[in-house]
Order: sequence, then C-alpha cells, then structure tokens
Amino acid sequence: MKLSQYFLPLLKEDPKEAQIASHRLMLRAGMIRQESAGIYSWLPLGLAVLQNIERIVRDEQERAGAVALLMPTIQSADLWRESGRYDDYGKEMLRITDRHEREMLFGPTNEEMITAIFKNFVRSYKALPLNLYHIQWKFRDEVRPRFGVMRGREFLMKDAYSFDVDEAAARRAYQRMFVAYLNTFARMGLKAIAMQADTGPIGGDLSHEFIILAETGESQVYCHRDLLDMPAPGDVDFHGDLSTHVQERTSLYAATEEKHSEAEFLKLPEDKRISARGIEVGHIFYFGEKYSAPMGASVTMADGQLRPVHMGSYGIGVSRLVGAIIEACHDDAGIIWPETVAPFHVGIVHLRPGDSACDAAVAKLEALFTARRVKYLTDDTDERGGAKFACMDLIGLPYAVTVGPKGAASGMIEIKHRKTGEKKEMPLVDGANFIIHALSEAGAI
Ligand code: ATP
Ligand code: MG
Repeated sequence: MKLSQYFLPLLKEDPKEAQIASHRLMLRAGMIRQESAGIYSWLPLGLAVLQNIERIVRDEQERAGAVALLMPTIQSADLWRESGRYDDYGKEMLRITDRHEREMLFGPTNEEMITAIFKNFVRSYKALPLNLYHIQWKFRDEVRPRFGVMRGREFLMKDAYSFDVDEAAARRAYQRMFVAYLNTFARMGLKAIAMQADTGPIGGDLSHEFIILAETGESQVYCHRDLLDMPAPGDVDFHGDLSTHVQERTSLYAATEEKHSEAEFLKLPEDKRISARGIEVGHIFYFGEKYSAPMGASVTMADGQLRPVHMGSYGIGVSRLVGAIIEACHDDAGIIWPETVAPFHVGIVHLRPGDSACDAAVAKLEALFTARRVKYLTDDTDERGGAKFACMDLIGLPYAVTVGPKGAASGMIEIKHRKTGEKKEMPLVDGANFIIHALSEAGAI
C-alpha cells in the first residue's frame, strides 16, 4: 500500500478528550473517529488491527472446536421475556420500537437467541457437545463510556456458547475455552491472567475473567506473581483432558475485586503478592441450566429422558483488545504493535520519490515483500524525512525500512526495529530477507 493512496488522517495535537495512552494514540494515529459518546467509526488503520485480532480469535476458537455462525444485532423483546432478563437488564439495554410498535432491542449479548436457535434444531444428546460462536457488534448503554474503545457503547465482541449433556461435560467445554483464551491472548503478544470472577447478570457459579495488568485498567485485581511468568498452554490436544493445564493456572491465587479475599491473599509470601489494576479482555461463565430450563432447550438423553442442556458462555472484547494492546505496547513516540496484529508489518520510508534509484529500490522491496505476503505501507509522500520517521513511530509498524539516495546508489537500506529502536544498514535483499525471517518466526506471516 502507498501512503499517497491510503487514508491515514493523523492528528498533530494530543486530543483533549483522551485520558489514557491508547485512546490518545488511536486518535492521533488516525485509527478511529468518535461519532457519538462511546460510538466510533473505524478508520482504515484501526480496522486493519481490528480484523487481525478477529482473525486470531477465530483461529483459536476453531482450533478449540467452536463453530462460527452469525446472529443479528437487533433482537426481539419477547425473546428476552422468556428468560426473564428483559426487565432485569435495565438501562444498559437499548430498547427500540419498530414501525409496527413491536418492541425490539440492540443486543447486549446473545444467550437467549442462541438458546432459541439450539432449541429449534437440536433434539438429541448425539449432537453434543456443541459450541457455537460469532463475532458481532453489541450495544450496551454504559453510564460512563470512556477511554475510547475500551468502554464503548457499541463494541465488537466474540461470544461463544457451549451446550453439553451434563455438568461434567460442560466443565470440559469450559476448560477448552479457558485454554483457547490463554493461547489467543498470547498470540497477540499479551500476558493475560485468568482470575476468579463474579458472574453478574449472566448468572451461574463458575467464572473467570482474563485480565491484562495495566495501570489504566478499570478493575482492581489481586494475584500470585508466578502467574505472570507462566506461559500459555500452546499446542494442546483439545480432544484430550485439559484439566491439568487449567489446574496449574487456577491453583495460584488470582481474583478480581468482587471475588477477592484479603485473608487468602495475605497467606501468600509478601514478595509474591500482586495488587494491581487490570483490563478485562475476556470473561467466561458456566451457568448450567439457567437459560435452557426456562426456555425449554432440552435434548433426549441416551436413556430416553428429556433434560435441559448445560450451557456456558464465553466472551472476548475484540474492539477493547485494540486499546488493551496499545496500553501494553507503546512508548512516548507512539504505538509498538506486536507483529501478529500490526496493520502493516513494514513501513517503507521513501525519502526521494521521483529519484530513479530510490524508486527502483522501493519497487524491489515491495516486490520481495509481496511475494512473501508481508504487508507494507510505503510513505511516498513529499513530507520531510523527519515527519515520515515520526509518522512511522506513531503508527507503530514493527519494522521501518528507509530508502534514501545515498543507500540506493550503493544498494543499501536502513532497517529500524520499532520495539528496540535498534537500527542497522544492510544490502537490500538481505535486509528484506532478514525482516521476512523475523516476521515468520513471530508467527505474523
Ligand atoms: P465490564 O465489567 O468491563 O463491563 P462485562 O463483565 O460487562 O465487562 P461481558 O458481558 O463478560 O463483560 O462481556 C465480554 C467481554 O466484552 C468483556 O470481557 C470485555 O472485554 C468486553 N466488553 C464488555 N463491555 C464492553 C464495553 N462497554 N466496551 C468494550 N468492550 C466491552
Ligand atoms: Mg459491563
């Protein structure tokens, strides 16, 4: 992609409304534009990151056995009356009336709808276990939308729903999602910790929130320090027994404020106690028959009896993750994207558009990158060099390659690694291969 043909409306000044780094940087880097409180347009650079995150989430959901479908954003009020949540949900629910005076709502979540779909089509235990997910926009009329996409009113969520014959099977489904979540966040360069959590309006008795530690996080959390060094489970057999992976990560103390026990926490050695702020990027629940019983989602068991299915639900804040990743990965100059979610892998800083040697070197680089599916953004504008470098730092692409007249004459390029700030000069083809190799090692291409 050429910057001259792209749409990257950078802001020169720090926007006054942004209280935290991710919000400020998303606005400055031309990723989003606020349309109303908590409602954003996703500009091309922001959309590219959102879609990369979405792709990783889908990939890990499917690896864990979840199957994609797509439910609508608008739901009928009657559906929510069946579960009894229509009145309970309160002001967070955006209620709409259509032209026939029918009561509708913009879905804040989909437990009711998925239960209705399940009930419509599934009759026998033989169809289980089943896990259905979608990635769809939600609306919650939050009292205080703030921090940009971190607490929006309209936001993109991945929500999965599991259906099982009994509690034991449902707990296995829960464990698959537990492991999938840790792998998902790790692939985005994040260290997420699973913490015991309140079940809130979704209900149920078993729940974990996945938390990224960050000073600007909205949640107060407590955990054992060793959890910070524990790697994600990685390549596991999702058909096998995952309980040891889960036990390893739940036997150490980790709880959100609502579930915190100071007495338990104080039993940890002092140097192992972490009390910090955190960002909730995912939340999983096991809630048994809470929806299946009132809504009549039952299956015929092997013994011929009809029983309500055991369910769980599993959310990931896809749009919140864009902000959370920036909170975890930035410096004074701008964003530092992990390779796997970066909107482009490489920025090519073309210092002399129109100079034939430079143009040829840039074209060569672009061809080498295209052949290996490396995404690049070439700054071919007539801005000054300094402004181009500042732009690359701000938008945070993992590598910046500079092509200038001096290097082009001798076939050299300069490569800058955004994260370490390390710079080196290399012959053009070697440099391109170096970047291709590094991106491939990072699992980005
Ligand atoms: P919170 O406590 O932050 O309000 P929640 O418990 O209401 O979250 P869930 O219903 O579990 O959230 O939703 C699943 C995920 O969706 C959350 O873990 C979070 O990452 C994301 N999410 C929830 N509310 C918002 C919001 N207003 N803006 C952006 N993402 C959100
Ligand atoms: Mg909430």
